[in-house]
Amino acid sequence: MTAHGIMFHHFCNYKNHLRGQGAIDQNEFEKILDFLGDFNILDANKWLEKATNNELEDNDICITFDDGLRCQYDVALPVLEKRKLTAFWFVYSNIYDGYLGRLEIYRYYRTAFFRDIEEFYDKFFNYLELSKHNDFVNKCLKNANIEDHLKEFNFYSYNDKKFRFIRDKILGQDNYFKIMDELITNDNLDLNKLNSHLWMDERQIQELSFKGHVIGLHSYSHPTELASMSTKKQKLEYEKNFYHLSNILSTIPITMSHPCNSYNKYTLEILDNLGVKIGFRSNSQLEKFNKYEFPRIDHAILMKELQLK
Ligand SMILES: [Zn+2]
Repeated sequence: MTAHGIMFHHFCNYKNHLRGQGAIDQNEFEKILDFLGDFNILDANKWLEKATNNELEDNDICITFDDGLRCQYDVALPVLEKRKLTAFWFVYSNIYDGYLGRLEIYRYYRTAFFRDIEEFYDKFFNYLELSKHNDFVNKCLKNANIEDHLKEFNFYSYNDKKFRFIRDKILGQDNYFKIMDELITNDNLDLNKLNSHLWMDERQIQELSFKGHVIGLHSYSHPTELASMSTKKQKLEYEKNFYHLSNILSTIPITMSHPCNSYNKYTLEILDNLGVKIGFRSNSQLEKFNKYEFPRIDHAILMKELQLK
């Protein structure tokens, strides 16, 4: 395979960061890094330099973290420091303007307040049945083939698929947010309070940069389908993210990763105009790619390979 990044998201530590779906602990992170020992793991700056000079070799890889999560700072950073490694951290900005990171809050809620994901699905489906959406949801489900939905993710259970189908294809984002917010407040929980544990603060981002890590763009509000937004809106997404990071760092961001892997040719023009040098995708599907489409492998895939060994 060609030079690529490894993409990490959630970490857990049995203290303040619980083990949600797909989260790994320090030990597992170490195992993955050991497993990658046959490759040449580069410091982020070295990777950036080689990538911009077109000098990357096939077994050069780098470590990347998306979304600016506090669990990455608490759990993964000490391991990197022990190994004297630096990484890319792709951070989106609206959290720092006081917005709620709802997708992360919901993830935390599912993890912390339910025995397992099935118990959460029970509660969600039951709540939906009593809501005004019930007739519409049932009508849509009748005509749908849930087994076929998201078939490429063979690790999804039937209920994983059903939940995602209802969320993405039937309810849409606004209805889904409303229902989840209601579930959470009905449980006497406070969205703002839940939100406050989940993100790195600006000082921690500064500290990473100071320690030689590379902080890059990841849009302003992390839309799930940036490519379907107008060019003007896309431009705002990246400009606001750019100014936020430029303001808190002593340098301007020149790297990025695409949130939810969503972009089109206008996105790439916007990045070019901002002076961005390299960008990463969320998978390794493209055989041919340009400087804003460096492939990445999801750590979940490596965990699977490790478990097979
Ligand atoms: Zn992301």
